[in-house]
Amino acid sequence: MKRILAAFMLLVCMTGCAAQPQSYTADFFAMDTFMSITAYGENEQAAQDTAVQLEQRINALEPALSRTREDSDLYRLNHADGAVCEVSEDTYAAIEAAVQYAEWTGGAFDPTMAPLTDLWGINTDNAHIPAQAEIDAALAHVGYQNIELLGDNQVRLLNGAQLDLGGIGKGFATDAAAALLDGSASVLATLGGNIGAYGENPNRDSGNWVVGIADPDNSADYLATVEVRGLSVVTSGDYERYFEQDGRRYHHIFDPATGYPADSGLRSVTVIDERSTRADALTTALFVMGLEDGMAFCAEHDIAAVFVTADKQVHTTEQVDAVCTFTFLGDEKGYAYAQ
Ligand code: ADP
Ligand code: MG
Repeated sequence: MKRILAAFMLLVCMTGCAAQPQSYTADFFAMDTFMSITAYGENEQAAQDTAVQLEQRINALEPALSRTREDSDLYRLNHADGAVCEVSEDTYAAIEAAVQYAEWTGGAFDPTMAPLTDLWGINTDNAHIPAQAEIDAALAHVGYQNIELLGDNQVRLLNGAQLDLGGIGKGFATDAAAALLDGSASVLATLGGNIGAYGENPNRDSGNWVVGIADPDNSADYLATVEVRGLSVVTSGDYERYFEQDGRRYHHIFDPATGYPADSGLRSVTVIDERSTRADALTTALFVMGLEDGMAFCAEHDIAAVFVTADKQVHTTEQVDAVCTFTFLGDEKGYAYAQ
C-alpha cells in the first residue's frame, strides 16, 4: 500500500510540477520609482534569469534617460550651449520617439518641459508656485521644434531648450525590457504606473493578466480592472507627485501652453497599447488635452484609453473593448461609468 501511495505521489508531483511554472520576482528602485518584475519559467532558475536580465536592462537604461545624473547624455546635451552632441543609441532612440509623439499630439506632450519641471520643483523640498514672470521666462525655451535630430546619434538643442524624458522614460524602459523576451515568455513588469503584461498568465485559466486602474483618492484601491495579454497598461495621474496650497493641487503634468500643471478636469488617464513608449507619451498628452479633446484624439487614432475625471466619472474609448476586458468597480467609491 505504502509503495502504491508513493508511486501515486510521485506521479502527482511529476504531472503537477511539470504543469506548474515557477516564478521569480525582482523588486528594485530605478528612475525614481519602485519597480517589480515577475517572470515565470520551467524552474526557479529560469524564471530568475529572465527577471534579472530585464532588471539589468532597465538599470542600464537609467543613465541613458536621466537628465539629473551629471554623467548622463541628457545632462551633457542640456549643458552643451547649443553645440552638437553625440549621444548613445538608446538616448537617441528615446529622443526620436519623444519628438515623434510631440508632433503627433500637437505639442501636448513636449519633451522640452525641463525648465518648468525645475521651476515648480514638484516632489522636491523646493516645490512652490513660481511668479508669472519666471513661468514666462521658462516657457520661452520650451518647444520640441528646438530639438534637431541630425542622424548618427547626433543631436543639437536650439534656443536654450532642455530635454526631459520623464514623460516617456518608463514606457521606453518597458519596451526595451519586452524586446528581450521571446514571444512565449510570461512576464509581468510593473515600472511604477507603467505595466507590461506579456505571454500567458499561468495563474488564471484565461491566461490573461488583470491590471487595476487606481482610485485617485486611494491608490491602493481600484476603480476598474482591465484584463490584457501582450500589452502595456500605463497610467498618469495627479495623485502621486504633487503639492497642495490654498486648497489647490499642483501636480507634475504640465500644460506646455500655460506652464502650469494641466488643469483639464482629469484625475488620471490610462492607455492600453502594444507599445509602452507610445502609451506613456499618450497618457501625459491626453491628460493635458482633457476629456473632450482627448476622447476625440483617441477616436481619430483608435487609441484604447480610460479617463477618470475630477467630477467622478469614468469614460472609456471605443477601442478599449477591442483590446481588453474592462470591468468597472467604482460604484461604491462614488464614481459613475459614463462609457
Ligand atoms: P509618471 O512619470 O508619474 O508616470 P508621466 O508619464 O505623466 O507620469 O510623466 C510626467 C513627467 O513628464 C513629469 O514628471 C515631467 O518630467 C514630464 N512632463 C511634465 N509635463 C509634460 C508634458 N506636457 N509633456 C512631456 N513631459 C512632461
Ligand atoms: Mg507619460
